[in-house]
Amino acid sequence: MLCLRNVEYSQNGRRILRSINMTFRDGMSYSILGPNGAGKSTIARILMGELRPTSGQVLLDGEDVTGLSVTERAKRGISMAWQEPARYEGITVRNYLTLGGKLKIGEDEIREVLELVGLPYERYAHRFVDKSLSGGERKRVELASLLLLKPRYVILDEPDSGLDITAGKLIEVILDRFRKCGTTVILITHHEGIALKTDFAYFVCGGRIVRKGFSQEVVDYYRKTCRRCSFAEG
Ligand code: ADP
Ligand code: MG
Ligand code: MG
Repeated sequence: MLCLRNVEYSQNGRRILRSINMTFRDGMSYSILGPNGAGKSTIARILMGELRPTSGQVLLDGEDVTGLSVTERAKRGISMAWQEPARYEGITVRNYLTLGGKLKIGEDEIREVLELVGLPYERYAHRFVDKSLSGGERKRVELASLLLLKPRYVILDEPDSGLDITAGKLIEVILDRFRKCGTTVILITHHEGIALKTDFAYFVCGGRIVRKGFSQEVVDYYRKTCRRCSFAEG
């Protein structure tokens, strides 16, 4: 179980997150839903260890991991797809997916996962993960790599951004696959349709949690309130 306990985050005297409490149970999927600037990516970076909270803790199975680095957290099974996918000059898609051969996976599984994210093996396996791939294609490669990695926790920061209109369907297929591996998914989005595809949701606005529960319930509330979010100020 991964938790945020009373997490606060301030930068230059500005409070960006306030008393954030979140619980991510094994094998479940969660969305963090909220408008731009709500603090979603900040929460993701704190979960991943890229940022330290100003106060509060990150707990993994009850153990305080607030001080652990990104690499140390990755070793414990926490992984993340960043909002802006990286480029790797000179590395082929196939090499990237197998971590340069470190990950022992069969060609069939690579093929299957590439097809699943909409990248036909024959056309993409030997391409380079550099600027010759579009942002959307790099995003798909990154998602494929996480599917092959089968981490215990995966944080997806707006996986739908930069993808086309088939993104909803793609996200659904990816969630299904992670569910089968027992991976806990933490999916960040500002699209209510995407949030509906997870089991539970947190609605974040102005750095606070304004609602949590079953995704349907939270999305209903979001639809009613968010477009004039009274929590955004102060
Ligand atoms: P979201 O991902 O929900 O769009 P963020 O977590 O990226 O929101 O940002 C939350 C708030 O923190 C925003 O008001 C943003 O402007 C501010 N913020 C984020 N990163 C920085 C930074 N490096 N310096 C100053 N303000 C930042
Ligand atoms: Mg954003
Ligand atoms: Mg963001």
